[in-house]
Amino acid sequence: MLKIKTPHLFLSWFSFIAVLTAAFTASIAAADPSKAPLKVVATTGMIADLAEEVGGDRVDVAALMGPGVDPHLYKATLSDLQQLQRADLILYNGLHLEGKMAEVLEKLAKKKPSVAVASGIDTNLLLQPPEYEGQYDPHVWFDIKLWIKAMEAVTLSLSEQRPEDKQFFESNAAAYMAELLRLDEWIREQIASIPKAQRVLITAHDAFGYFGKAYDIEVMGLQGLSTASEFGLHDLKRLVDVIIDRRIKAVFVESSVPQKFILALKEGVQARGAEVALGGELFSDAMGEKGTPEGRYTGMLRHNVSTIVQALR
Ligand SMILES: [Zn+2]
Repeated sequence: MLKIKTPHLFLSWFSFIAVLTAAFTASIAAADPSKAPLKVVATTGMIADLAEEVGGDRVDVAALMGPGVDPHLYKATLSDLQQLQRADLILYNGLHLEGKMAEVLEKLAKKKPSVAVASGIDTNLLLQPPEYEGQYDPHVWFDIKLWIKAMEAVTLSLSEQRPEDKQFFESNAAAYMAELLRLDEWIREQIASIPKAQRVLITAHDAFGYFGKAYDIEVMGLQGLSTASEFGLHDLKRLVDVIIDRRIKAVFVESSVPQKFILALKEGVQARGAEVALGGELFSDAMGEKGTPEGRYTGMLRHNVSTIVQALR
């Protein structure tokens, strides 16, 4: 009896040890920080979207600025600071987009991997409007080809943090780039369908400079590159003249800028006995609600282009 029982006893001991070992290994895997998704904190929704597209399930991405939030005026809250402190990687736009967060971001960059995704773009490709002496236009996401360069910066920084996932990030980036290039082509065709004389995009602030250059539409804003700049009666009169002289059909509000600026323009046109319509809401410096098509970068662009084409054509 004993001779038969011993192997059983031995086997059950063996499986007990095996189960223990497996459980121990599993608990190590769960606690191993290199296996948990990389914690990425981005300032704007557009940058968070890039990190999600490239990082897939290997990253856990949070955006500090939600729908309707103006990045030029945004100040970091206490909970933002806590979130930034816990991040493995910080991504921001740079080129002074986050005007009121510059100091916070600079301090964090000394302690944490931080990447300004637009700052790496060749300055020859950046716009430097003469009226904003020495400042580059930060709204690079409105030219898809420039945004692809920002995506490359994101891919590189994710790969530096997680070299073992480099191939995964690069293959996601390649697939997303193909999608972006198709969208770029579609935008070009759509904007070209607006008669040249009507192809003028008037908004509250100068967010669409790159869009105008890339897709061949004239752009004009009431405020400057940053919503922090004021506009005067002179700017208002200049745009009212353009609208009346060129018979512009519509002007556009932006989701992250108060409507009163564009309404002042509409009233200015009415005071001269003419009419201009509100062409609808564009997403300029912030995306739409999460879970809606406009809550993604590609959906935001599609929405803007459809709105512009419908109002101006
Ligand atoms: Zn802006």
